[in-house]
Amino acid sequence: MAAMNISELRFLVAEDHDFQRRTLVGLLKRLGASYVSDAPDGASALEMFATPDARIDVIISDLDMPGMDGMELIRRVGESGLPVAIILASSIERAVLASVETMTKAYGITLLGAIEKPVTQSKLEGLISKHKPPQAKSTGTRPASPAIPLEEIRRGLGNSEFEPFFQPKIDLASGELKGAEALARWRHPERGVLGPYAFIDTLEQVGQIDPLTWMMVTKSARQCRAWADVAPALDVTVSVNISASSLAVAGAADHITRLVRDEGVDPGRIVLEVTESTAVGNVGASLETLARLRMRGFRLSIDDYGTGYSSMQQLARIAFNELKIDQSFVMSALESDASRVILESSLEMARRLKVQSVAEGVETRAHWDLLLALGCDMAQGYFIAKPMAAADFARWAAEWKAPE
Ligand code: C2E
Ligand code: CA
Ligand code: CA
Repeated sequence: MAAMNISELRFLVAEDHDFQRRTLVGLLKRLGASYVSDAPDGASALEMFATPDARIDVIISDLDMPGMDGMELIRRVGESGLPVAIILASSIERAVLASVETMTKAYGITLLGAIEKPVTQSKLEGLISKHKPPQAKSTGTRPASPAIPLEEIRRGLGNSEFEPFFQPKIDLASGELKGAEALARWRHPERGVLGPYAFIDTLEQVGQIDPLTWMMVTKSARQCRAWADVAPALDVTVSVNISASSLAVAGAADHITRLVRDEGVDPGRIVLEVTESTAVGNVGASLETLARLRMRGFRLSIDDYGTGYSSMQQLARIAFNELKIDQSFVMSALESDASRVILESSLEMARRLKVQSVAEGVETRAHWDLLLALGCDMAQGYFIAKPMAAADFARWAAEWKAPE
């Protein structure tokens, strides 16, 4: 069965050793492959891969190559968003293989496996037979949501129909409520309450996310103030998600500061969550805004940590206050060694950088216990509570008791 598939698959071999490269190509042909291209390093492999009519299905790559190595090749291939599977032709330790596997998954690439050298025909065939044709590409794990026309979203923004729901952040050691993350919801007059996937992508794609960002900052700060006024237990920090493009807006730092102060809130009560890729992507303007915001007293958090491009240098430069470990690592930490390794090393890094660690996606008691044991500072997730409207949040907080 595998043999039949192999003739239809298109292969690309990236390997710097001539002999090993020729061997791999030869093995593939003997297995029945009819389309095999090869490259002596990552850069030329990427070039071939990116050729529109190449349509590569499986890349067989060495990890250790001069110039662009296998890891970088994987990342670049992942960025292309094209469906492709990878086989690593490298002898690597189990632990390293596990992290590479998690990394490839995060980039949306299927890792069929790794083979030790010398590569044999049967080992290669075994891995290729695991190849499945790519599924029609859905947008990651996101739930299907109605595509809402931009005009309708803009009308909703004009009518101020968007509001923050709040999800608690709990100090693991003490069980105390420490903060609330504001998550955008649209109270649509006909469609009911809609989550961010119904509108964020659309707004970002057309470069019109800023009005939503400002509305979320304003309403979140307002709620922060209102809670602080009613009960000391509700005097918590409020976290707001800031889109990359909003950070790059000229005068963004001043604008955000003004919005928060106008609500009578000290910037120190507001945590701004930005994703890793934001922090390193649009370097100039975004970093300037972040540095300014930090100087004004805002707290900065790296969101979805582990899924983006981690550049320690950049992180250190901005002096972040908090690291939010992506829920994918937290959720799978109980089952997968690889996720657990990443979770542990992220926590270790947070400790060494002296920043708060927050775990997202805490869905069960077992997750809670594991994070507590690993010394994570804070937890957020369905095990504690789902995001709630502001009024429900206050009621929830009054009844909250930490697990014993
Ligand atoms: P995020 O910042 O990573 O937020 C966490 C998401 O995980 C939220 O989804 C939350 O409801 C969900 N979640 C929380 N606990 C659990 C759990 O235990 N299990 C699982 N499976 N999920 C959990 P939500 O509210 O749908 O938001 C999705 C994303 O939309 C957010 O991811 C954030 O990136 C973006 N977003 C939300 N509000 C805003 C906003 O005001 N501005 C911008 N730019 N993005 C926003
Ligand atoms: Ca977030
Ligand atoms: Ca996340």
